[in-house]
Amino acid sequence: MFDYRRPLRREEVFVTLVDNTPDNGTLADAIARAGVIFGFKFVPEEELPSSAPKGVLIQHMIWRCNGPYQVNLVQAAATALERFTTISLAFSYRDEMEMLGFEDAVEQSKSAYKGRINFIRPDEKSAAGRLCVSVHKLVENAVCDSVRVKYRARCLSVEPVLDGSTSDARDFFLSASEVYRRHHLYLRAPSDGYFAIRTNDGFLITATKTNKANLDLRRVSKVTHFDPDRNEITYSGEFLPSSDAVEAAVIFASCPAVSCLLHTHASRLFTRNPRYRDHVTVPVLPYGDQRLGHAVSQSIRDQGRSFVIMEEHGEVFSDEGRGWPSLLTVIDDYSRRAAADL
Ligand SMILES: [Zn+2]
Repeated sequence: MFDYRRPLRREEVFVTLVDNTPDNGTLADAIARAGVIFGFKFVPEEELPSSAPKGVLIQHMIWRCNGPYQVNLVQAAATALERFTTISLAFSYRDEMEMLGFEDAVEQSKSAYKGRINFIRPDEKSAAGRLCVSVHKLVENAVCDSVRVKYRARCLSVEPVLDGSTSDARDFFLSASEVYRRHHLYLRAPSDGYFAIRTNDGFLITATKTNKANLDLRRVSKVTHFDPDRNEITYSGEFLPSSDAVEAAVIFASCPAVSCLLHTHASRLFTRNPRYRDHVTVPVLPYGDQRLGHAVSQSIRDQGRSFVIMEEHGEVFSDEGRGWPSLLTVIDDYSRRAAADL
């Protein structure tokens, strides 16, 4: 498995679309465009070579189906895992009731294939009134499951950034990991989200695709500069900073009172829990994007919110200068209460 020690090169990544819907090519065009912008090769199914050329490290397939969850389709996807690194399945449903009826089957399949088959949850209604996955969400998946980072990376040093002089930061990362694990603050995998803490010369943040329920401190990097015009992250560390390092950079720059951030995907507890609807103050926006950072900053700074939900995405908790132990206590309290009410 690629460990994101460096950005992937375009020729190392294939993304393929299998589309069983009567679409006129809108989705294929959108994925191909994202490939040009973010640096992966979109290979239409009919042009897929019988075996991957040497040097291809990641082959991701998006399979859009014209109907609900079907066991035989999932089995066909499982067979295709011999070739593909990961597969995302997008089913569509008559209504929410039908979708919820397959929830257990989806969960079982997810764990049976150890996360290599992803089931993308529908997020919009089609013209015909069916619940389906939006083009926006499928394009985001094409980037997220392949090259991951949307920023340009400028690495200053691959030396570990956490050493004896940063023991408070070490404690923050280990304690954040403990809270994240205890309350299962992730949806798809424990690599969801990020932890970040301000330093005197930038901020420390977990690397992209890092298991945060069982955190290896080598996978913490330091961001010392973000150039918004070039969309460039300057960093030190062995691994690429979180794909959301752009949002974190914008938040730390626009909210001087914030000294630490936790971004989580606690969908059942918060994001999709109707009881927490009041916290949804940030609309659907692409990840790894300055606009998302500015929208979250606005909620934190202008509305004084230390717990923000990004619609259809996840939570951002910030400390407002109270320090990380206080932030983790707040998250722990919120999570306990939400779990008790489920
Ligand atoms: Zn996220």
